[in-house]
Order: sequence, then structure tokens, then C-alpha cells
Amino acid sequence: MNYDVIIIGAGPGGIFSAYELTLINPQLKIAVFESGHALDKRHCPIDGDKIKSCISCKTCSVMSGFGGAGAFSDGKYNITNAFGGTLYEYIGKQQALDLMHYVDGINMRYGGEGTRLYSTTGSKFKKECIQHDLHLLDASVRHLGTDINYIVLENIYNELKDKTDFFFDTPVETVKKMDKGYVIVTNDGEYFCERCIISVGRSGSKWMEKVCRALEIPTKSNRVDLGVRVELPAEVFSHLTDELYESKIVCRTNTYGDKVRTFCMNPRGAVVAENTNGIITVNGHSYEDPARHTDNTNFALLVSQHFSEPFKDSNGYGESIARLSNMLGGGVLVQRFGDLTRGRRSTQQRIDEAFIIPTLKATPGDLSLVLPKRILDGIIEMIYALDKVAPGTANDDTLLYGVEVKFYNMEVAVNADLECCHENLYVIGDGSGITHSLSHASASGVHVARKIIEKMK
Ligand SMILES: Cc1cc2nc3c(=O)[nH]c(=O)nc-3n(C[C@H](O)[C@H](O)[C@H](O)COP(=O)(O)OP(=O)(O)OC[C@H]3O[C@@H](n4cnc5c(N)ncnc54)[C@H](O)[C@@H]3O)c2cc1C
Repeated sequence: MNYDVIIIGAGPGGIFSAYELTLINPQLKIAVFESGHALDKRHCPIDGDKIKSCISCKTCSVMSGFGGAGAFSDGKYNITNAFGGTLYEYIGKQQALDLMHYVDGINMRYGGEGTRLYSTTGSKFKKECIQHDLHLLDASVRHLGTDINYIVLENIYNELKDKTDFFFDTPVETVKKMDKGYVIVTNDGEYFCERCIISVGRSGSKWMEKVCRALEIPTKSNRVDLGVRVELPAEVFSHLTDELYESKIVCRTNTYGDKVRTFCMNPRGAVVAENTNGIITVNGHSYEDPARHTDNTNFALLVSQHFSEPFKDSNGYGESIARLSNMLGGGVLVQRFGDLTRGRRSTQQRIDEAFIIPTLKATPGDLSLVLPKRILDGIIEMIYALDKVAPGTANDDTLLYGVEVKFYNMEVAVNADLECCHENLYVIGDGSGITHSLSHASASGVHVARKIIEKMK
């Protein structure tokens, strides 16, 4: 089979490449290969009843399939260059913002209309934070919610399915470079294309490394973010979340000078387990529908670890720490903040006696046996700092789930068109190491589609 463009990966990056390509040139023959299932077949078997924890499915429905890692996410669509990736370094700040707004407009047309766009602009919390040496980052955030996010994806899929050949449950094994174009090898056969867009996300990070080695594409990697997910009564953060929904707050610790930041805030949401390459870590989401709200708010506290030469395996370091927590807890560990500061493990009895009901069934334990001292000290310092702008954060019953790890794909060397050293081979989205969010990944998809069409003229 011959295609004008083959896209590998049907996450936001791949979807918006396909969307823009078919919009500008409906004559193009396009195929999308996805190792996960079609959207309606994506189901995580954890039901909290018969299956309480991850059973390591062959393909993780949380991370893979149409919609990518974002399909069951909270759908927080952040329009900003302050976090979520460094796409702006390649295409310029204004262009990056314009593309994020463009995708937001598409999401609105395909089912997201009526959802709220929050903004930090002019927020009084900025001043309040600075007074306590905390720093609120600038952003606009559209909260689609897990439910509306799904509807948007369903509608976009219905729009694309007759214009694009989708191959679900079809992982691409290798990409072979030919004289003019690429051969995409799957266990179902080989497919030829003149142009190839690789958008394999975080779940495809190991595969991406393999491809880069085989095709001698230069890469660099040196960062991993480690921390915990905090869960507390929604009232503690409601003054912030009602106005801003998500607040990205950064603090520089006194002890080590490390930056600790809040990440992925889910007002009235739920904590969830996540499986990345067989390692169970923690994450969170929330629904737009008030009927599905919980009594709790959760967010991550993360500390970035940057490594210098000769150490290269920053993700391996993060994996080892996550494995340690899996070893002790059989999955995710949970500890009350009061137990952590008193130097004792949490027990099921202490969790049961707390004034907060955990939204994730996790194993009570001791995070100080898992997280390096430097990281744990930073997290404790941040909790006390946040307690000044959101009193109650440092209460004994505040729950800490571990570990939360943000793996960063190694950064693939690409030019301003997001094309690597091989002509017509593009690497975008989280798989490129350049983006780490729905908005940046989607924007990179639109950008690359426009560049391909421009080049074809
Ligand atoms: C639980 C959770 C919640 C999140 N919440 C948010 C949020 O609220 N806001 C936000 O901005 N971001 C959030 N994120 C991050 C966000 O989902 C990602 O940044 C985004 O999905 C990246 O898009 P992508 O297209 O680059 O990659 P992905 O979405 O990861 O998609 C890549 C796709 O490629 C497929 N693939 C991988 N390897 C191959 C192969 N060899 N062959 C074929 N297919 C392959 C994968 O199966 C996957 O479907 C969340 C992530 C998770 C896991």
C-alpha cells in the first residue's frame, strides 16, 4: 500500500496532523497506525471491585489508542508557553500560542462548546503567592473534563474516519528509510509513504529511542520529574480552583535551591494509577459533570532532576524509584502527611480513621523509604509553603500518593518544521521530547501538517 503521508500514533499530535492535512488537501492519501484500540474499545479493567489494581494489559487503554494518553485525561487544555513543552523554541512564541488557540477552536466546534476558559491574568493570587515566595505561572486553561474530552475525540474521529485509513491494534515495528520515502513495517505487512510523521507519545518512548538509534537521528536526554500526588478536601484549594481551575505554582526550596511545582490540579477529582511500560505510577483526573465530582482535590508536587554527563539515563533513574514503590506497595503507596512528618508509616487503620476518604485504593506505607531525601525534603517544604496560601494543605490527614513520575522522552533533533535529519521524516508531540501536554502536542500536529502541505506546493 502506498500513502502520501503515514502518521504513527493516534494521540493529539497524530490526530491534529491528520485533521489539518485532510482539511487543507482532502485528496491526500493518509494512513494512521496506532498500537492501541479504537476509542470505543478502550477500557481500563480496573473497576475498584473485582480488579483493584493494574493487571498490565498487553496494550494499556489509559495510555494508548485513539486519543492517545490524553483520551481519559482531565482534558485541561493549557494555552501558554510557560509550561507544557518548548514548542515555541522551534516555531516562535506567537506562532505556538496561535496554534494552541486554533486547536482550542476546533475542540469547541467538535463538542467542547460551553466549557470554561480560566485565566491567571489579573488574578489576585499572583500577589498573594509572591508574598510567600511562591510563583503563579501565567496561563489560560480550558477545562474540557474527562467526559467532554471523550465526546470531542469521538466527534473528531467521526470526521476523520472516511478521509483517513486507521489501523488500530497495529504497532509499527520499524521505519525503514528508502531512496525516496519510508517503509513502515508492522506485523500485518509493510506500507510505503513519501512522508512520515512520528507521534508516539510517552508510551512510545522506548520505541522512539530504537528508531533514532537505527536511523542515526541525534537525541539528547537529561531530565525526569519525581514527586507525589497530593489529595486533600476540595475546600482547602477551592478559592484557587474556583477562579483559576488549575494553578501552576512554583517554589524554590531553601535547603537545596530546587524548584518544586504543582502540576495537573484536579478539583473535585480522583487519583488514578497509571501504567507506563509496566511501571505503576500515580496520576489524577476530574469530570466536568458535577454528578461525577468527588469531595477531594488532587494535584502533583514535582521536583525536576536534571543530570549532567556522563549520566544519560534520567528516565531509568525515575523508573528505578517507581519500581521501588511498586516493590513495597505492589503498586501505588499512600501516606498521610502527619505520618510522614512523624517518621512513621501509614497503616490501613490510620487511613481509615482520617477525615478524608481516599479516591484511589493504594497500599498504606512509607514514602521516605522510596523517595530520595532531597526530593522528599523539597516536597515537605512546598507543602508548608502552600499551607500559607491554602491553609489546611499541611494538615495531618493530607494524603500523599507515590510515586508520581513525569518521564521526558529524549529530545529528538528537529528543525523549525519539526523535520529530523532525514528529509520528510517528522517527529512531533511528546514522542519528540519537545511537548509534554495536550495543547503543545496538538499544536505540533497542526504545524507539521501545514509545513508538509507548503513543501508539496
Ligand atoms: C492520565 C493522564 C492525564 C493527563 N492529563 C493531561 C491534562 O489534563 N492536560 C494536558 O495537557 N496533558 C495531560 N496529559 C498528558 C497528555 O495526555 C499528553 O501530553 C498528550 O497526550 C501527548 O500527545 P501525543 O500525541 O504526543 O502522544 P500520546 O497521546 O501519548 O499518543 C501517542 C500514541 O502513539 C501510540 N504509539 C506508541 N508507539 C507506537 C508504535 N510503535 N506504533 C503505533 N502507535 C504507537 C500510542 O499507543 C499512543 O496512542 C495526561 C496524561 C495522562 C496519562
